[in-house]
Amino acid sequence: MKTARRVAKRRALHIVQGGIDNGDKRWLERAAARGLTTDRWVVPKSALVGDEVVVYVRGYGLFATAMISSPPRPRKDWPNRYGAGLRSVRRIDPPISLGVLGRSVPGLQWTKYPRSITTPESGIADAIRQLVDERRKHRGAEVDEQLLDEAGLDELRALALAKASPRATAHRRQVTTRTRASAIKFYAVARANGRCEFCGHAAPFLKEDGKPYLESHHILRVADEGPDHPQNVIGVCPNCHRRAHHAKDKERIKTQMRKRVVRLERQRNGRL
Ligand SMILES: [Zn+2]
Repeated sequence: MKTARRVAKRRALHIVQGGIDNGDKRWLERAAARGLTTDRWVVPKSALVGDEVVVYVRGYGLFATAMISSPPRPRKDWPNRYGAGLRSVRRIDPPISLGVLGRSVPGLQWTKYPRSITTPESGIADAIRQLVDERRKHRGAEVDEQLLDEAGLDELRALALAKASPRATAHRRQVTTRTRASAIKFYAVARANGRCEFCGHAAPFLKEDGKPYLESHHILRVADEGPDHPQNVIGVCPNCHRRAHHAKDKERIKTQMRKRVVRLERQRNGRL
């Protein structure tokens, strides 16, 4: 007996690029909010109508998804580039950082040199789709402890603010609480971006992995019921950290640190 059943061909998934300075990122945000379309996004020449795209924005990660709505045509303003229509733009929030993507989809070689457009093979495309679905469902709270080291600032912040579901098992709640506590420490150091958030000096040295050495400090001690929240943690140099614990004027330092971090978080909220 002949097997006449035809397997529907899966739509391809293309990773494409979006810039910040050229307004792409702003456009994606507006397009997602208002259902805008474009007719000239740079895609691989082989792309077909109905294919999916994932847009990578440097410094953010996988930022949005969309669907190809018109066939690629040569761009008059850009030699050897093809522009196609996009519709159904949706944000990925927080964006999936390159570090988390690389660790979660190790077969995706593109993460090592993410400056071009690419069409990964179907197994890898499925892994990316799954990662995007997870992100949309859990909004960053799904990033586990093993990935903290690779996570981006937006992912760490999402994780720091995540709450354990009241329906989660006791074990799952405990894991979430622990991961959150670690995420908050990673987040404060990442937010500091190589400079002490208190005195403003550069980190005293680089670690073996090349990242600047800073410490995270709970402004109100957890034992004093200090909330485990991004507004209560500061990324500081070892000197300022010791000062905060032992200085004669540590109460004044505590007040100043608190003001500083509240301001930093307010700026960040304005940006997001
Ligand atoms: Zn300092």
